[in-house]
Amino acid sequence: MGWEENVRKVTPYVPGEQPGDKKVIKLNTNECPYPPAPGIRKLAESFDYNRLRLYPDTEAKKLSDALCAYYHIRQEQLFIGIGSDDVLAMAFLTFFHSGKPILFPDITYSFYDVWADLFRIPYRQNKLDEKFCIVKEDYMAENGGIVIPNPNAPTGVLERVDVIEEIVAANPDSVVIIDEAYVDFGGESCLRLIGQYENLLVVQTFSKSRAMAGLRIGFAMGSPKLIHYLKDAKFSFNSYTMNMLSVELGAEAVRDVAYFKDTVKKIVDTRERVKKELLGMGFVFPDSRGNFIFAAHPDVPAKRLFEELKGRGIYVRYWEKPRIDNYLRITIGTDEEMDILISNLRSIMENKPE
Ligand SMILES: *Cc1c(COP(=O)(O)O)cnc(C)c1O
Repeated sequence: MGWEENVRKVTPYVPGEQPGDKKVIKLNTNECPYPPAPGIRKLAESFDYNRLRLYPDTEAKKLSDALCAYYHIRQEQLFIGIGSDDVLAMAFLTFFHSGKPILFPDITYSFYDVWADLFRIPYRQNKLDEKFCIVKEDYMAENGGIVIPNPNAPTGVLERVDVIEEIVAANPDSVVIIDEAYVDFGGESCLRLIGQYENLLVVQTFSKSRAMAGLRIGFAMGSPKLIHYLKDAKFSFNSYTMNMLSVELGAEAVRDVAYFKDTVKKIVDTRERVKKELLGMGFVFPDSRGNFIFAAHPDVPAKRLFEELKGRGIYVRYWEKPRIDNYLRITIGTDEEMDILISNLRSIMENKPE
């Protein structure tokens, strides 16, 4: 049975659990606790199911028009994919083809090394400093590409745009991907740099701030040349980018600016309140600009908190990995959910039964 030797073997990304039990308080995958914009429901309900016979628009025009209008960019600067995971994977495949190692932080989104392994791209993980910040000089070495999430996941740490700009400017021979999955929660986007730097790709998603993880919409913005190469690779896989419903409903999500801003504000307000509560309980954490907090307690092991919370129906994220194995990544839910989390953390730490 020699065929198995010829198989492309990969170690897949392990996402946070999606428990079937609805009663669980789910603070483990950075989803939005609020529903998507109200107009989306109307559109979904009035959608003519007969249209599903047909292939969707390859250009996802309605969605790309809405995005171009919102971000003040041109169609040739925009690429749309099935969640930003799809966009990022396609960008790795397209742009990281030199044979030289690509660079990304040692503590970061745990999909990057998975794609690198899948596509046989060599990589080097640069160590974040003790405050979980990027050491920009590490990204000035010879490389085959760079990917940095900003704000970073799972730390929530935001790097300044001028730091990113220095990295982009210092690497004219590589594509630099900035993964802005969390930028809407208080980060400054690098989008304004795409006109100036042909090698910069900014990637965003509808899964967090736009409350649509289930529809799978992500997009990238960059120079027309980058986008052109990305589309060539994408259309060599599958030329029907987005399904019809995602195009319609995604466009509506972008159009309802007021609802979007209101949702983001609610989450940010809750995040800032929860930071104070956690500080009062002795937790330490980097200042998060995402919809989550990456917190450790000096006296109580994160693993124990994680397991006990889970036993009480509260799911947070925990990684048994070097440097971060005493941290919990806690997604910001509704105020009510966060109050339940806090009171359970208190009772676990006081060793009380639930
Ligand atoms: C959630 C996340 C993504 C992927 O989101 P999609 O649901 O695939 O759009 C990408 N990068 C980071 C850093 C994330 O946290």
